[in-house]
Amino acid sequence: MWRYREAFPINDDAPIISFQEGFTPLIPFPQLTRFMTGDTKVYIKQDHLFQTGSYKDRGAAVMISKCAETGIKSVVEDSSGNAGCAVAAYSAAAGITSRIFLPSSTPEAKLAQIASYGARIVMIPGNRDNTSQAILEELEQPDPPYYAGHAYNPFFFHGTKSFAFEVCEQLEWDPPDAVFIPAGNGTLLIGAYLGFQELQEKGAIPTVPRLVAVQCQGYTPLREIVWPEATGPVRGGEAPPGEEEADAPPQEKNLHPLADGIAISNPVRLHEMRDAVLNTGGTVIIVTDEQIRAVLEQTGRLGFFIEPTAAVGLAGVLSYLGSAAPAGQERIVTVFTGHGLKNPVRK
Ligand SMILES: *Cc1c(COP(=O)(O)O)cnc(C)c1O
Repeated sequence: MWRYREAFPINDDAPIISFQEGFTPLIPFPQLTRFMTGDTKVYIKQDHLFQTGSYKDRGAAVMISKCAETGIKSVVEDSSGNAGCAVAAYSAAAGITSRIFLPSSTPEAKLAQIASYGARIVMIPGNRDNTSQAILEELEQPDPPYYAGHAYNPFFFHGTKSFAFEVCEQLEWDPPDAVFIPAGNGTLLIGAYLGFQELQEKGAIPTVPRLVAVQCQGYTPLREIVWPEATGPVRGGEAPPGEEEADAPPQEKNLHPLADGIAISNPVRLHEMRDAVLNTGGTVIIVTDEQIRAVLEQTGRLGFFIEPTAAVGLAGVLSYLGSAAPAGQERIVTVFTGHGLKNPVRK
């Protein structure tokens, strides 16, 4: 990703912490043909193939490089797992000590990975929202540590914007029509929006693709502000903003969602997420655990091993293509965000 060096707000080259990450494969997914109408093409960006096994490395590479440049010696972070892995790994490489706050429900493999980097783990009882609360309290203490929080820290988003640069370069600067992105705190959604906007401002691409956020059932704050009237899970994104869904069952709180990586009730950048969706003509799609399971099964049979949260984007695409809405002749990009070894779910 450092081929786009000038776009990252790091002043000197010396503090850059890099594993030569990024430029992950963008592969066409022809196996989906049976779901397609017209000449729709679906591409998958394989962001599960990063140093720490998730796209969070894009953000951590820039954020921790900035920390190194600023002379910061120790950081704290709160995470459902993967951002913690990325911050811990890049901090280790930078010689920065890290403490990672995590919900007690964090998958064991992610904990083992974080511990292996020498980070200190702080387990917080309850869910991801309790963890956010705990770290904000920690930061109220006198002489607080530096908060390298991926949902807050702007430098993280300057890293995730590289996703958009790579997609456009890999499609020979002919941007896709729509990009489907799993969204909890929106670090990839907002980063992609920044990246596509920067490319458009520089005249590298004519338009910004529609950004479609995909959330998991029970954790749909973005859907709620985009479509305040709607109450139930929307399968295909078929209802235009503001239009009531017929026969929508009431939303249940899912306490153990398969998509643990995006089970966020109160994202701090909710309004930026909304702008990314609405300013690009995009939408919000909700997927259920059953839809995620179906994608895991299908992708596994094709040789991909991804974690449940990483199946959310493709589940959203399938839902969209299976609905009445698809326009046909579209080029759609989605992303595998995390590796299967991080949260193996055995059928
Ligand atoms: C972090 C993460 C996401 C989404 O991230 P948000 O910033 O919360 O929107 C999606 N998939 C995986 C595997 C992740 O780790």
